[in-house]
Amino acid sequence: MDIDYLVVGSGLTGAVLARALHEAGHRVLVLERRAHTGGNVHDHVHAESGILVHTYGPHYFRTNDEDLWRYVNRFTSFQRYEAELKSLVDGRHENWPIAGSYIQRTVGRDWQPEFTGTPQNFEEASLAMMPRPIYEKFVKGYTEKQWGVPATTLSAGLAKRFDVREDDEPRLMRHKHQGIPAGGYTQMMTNMLAGIPLRTGVDYLQDRAAFQPRVMTIFTGPIDEYFGCDLGRLAYRGQKRTHEYLPHTEWFQPRGQVNNPSPADGPHVRTLEWKHMMAPEAQARTRGTLLTRETPYTPTSSGGDCEYPFPDERNTQLYERYRERAERIPGLLVCGRLGEYRYYDMDQAIARAQMLARRVLAGAEMPQAA
Ligand SMILES: Cc1cc2nc3c(=O)[nH]c(=O)nc-3n(C[C@H](O)[C@H](O)[C@H](O)COP(=O)(O)OP(=O)(O)OC[C@H]3O[C@@H](n4cnc5c(N)ncnc54)[C@H](O)[C@@H]3O)c2cc1C
Repeated sequence: MDIDYLVVGSGLTGAVLARALHEAGHRVLVLERRAHTGGNVHDHVHAESGILVHTYGPHYFRTNDEDLWRYVNRFTSFQRYEAELKSLVDGRHENWPIAGSYIQRTVGRDWQPEFTGTPQNFEEASLAMMPRPIYEKFVKGYTEKQWGVPATTLSAGLAKRFDVREDDEPRLMRHKHQGIPAGGYTQMMTNMLAGIPLRTGVDYLQDRAAFQPRVMTIFTGPIDEYFGCDLGRLAYRGQKRTHEYLPHTEWFQPRGQVNNPSPADGPHVRTLEWKHMMAPEAQARTRGTLLTRETPYTPTSSGGDCEYPFPDERNTQLYERYRERAERIPGLLVCGRLGEYRYYDMDQAIARAQMLARRVLAGAEMPQAA
């Protein structure tokens, strides 16, 4: 088959790029090494319960951008879902992010953050927001389970991902548009890729010579794997997911996601009860409830479990060396969360892929990772 653009990977980045190039009249082929499309946002129905499960962890869609919201609504309608998370602390379900009222209740009305000055690491950055006992209960254990290293060795920037809520706002995010695709992410991705030639179960890296596009290869897999990891492997954290089906229990916990920061509760960081994330009419058709516990670990070989890029200097520098090499190869664009070794929320991944598609279509210079 003669193709203009080869898109490796059928996740959001690959699908948005493929869609744009296809709609511009180019011949596009998408390759996907997994047996299914959709990348990390894939979901599936648990047969016994009829409950929809996000295969690679819970995905809450949110955006403030009207154009982006219109774009995703071309492929699916959304059921409104504003994620509210809880943390299991001292046997009680407390708000996450931490509610200011909780700190007042447990530490006192005139509480002060523990740390003043310029934080040099994650622990100091967290203590700049809260008293130490709160940090110990909500943050330290969760973070050290998540990353598998002491919180003092992690970058201060990581603490920007949460806050202390003086107004006790229970919603995880405050975006205008929030939701979950009404028919699931898999259906949304199928619609996005409709009409575009696609082959699943094909690992491009196993047989590159078989796929030679006329114009460009767009690679959305791990950038180190593209080069055979010859400079070393980029580190990730993945999650082992264990499922527990409770056929005779209607509801197990008060929200879809409960964090488990205490090491005493086990090695898992969160417990998910998927039924909360379904529309009420769909909930009514389910049988029992389904839980998933997520336990972080460090994957040692390539595969589908590269989830969170490891936030340290060694990996940042290693990524830069791969990026520089990739940019010197004509007709190659490496992008997406794995290609750029960067955590992108779904809306960010879509916006970036749209921007890259515009540049590719304009024949502009190869875009640089920000
Ligand atoms: C645990 C977790 C939870 C998340 N939750 C949220 C959330 O709540 N809200 C939110 O907005 N975002 C969330 N995200 C982010 C979201 O998953 C990403 O924005 C999205 O997956 C980015 O899509 P992508 O196409 O860049 O990467 P991916 O979805 O990973 O797609 C890459 C694809 O390339 C394929 N591939 C790789 N190598 C090859 C090869 N050699 N040959 C063929 N195919 C290949 C892979 O199989 C994969 O399908 C979460 C991420 C994680 C890790």
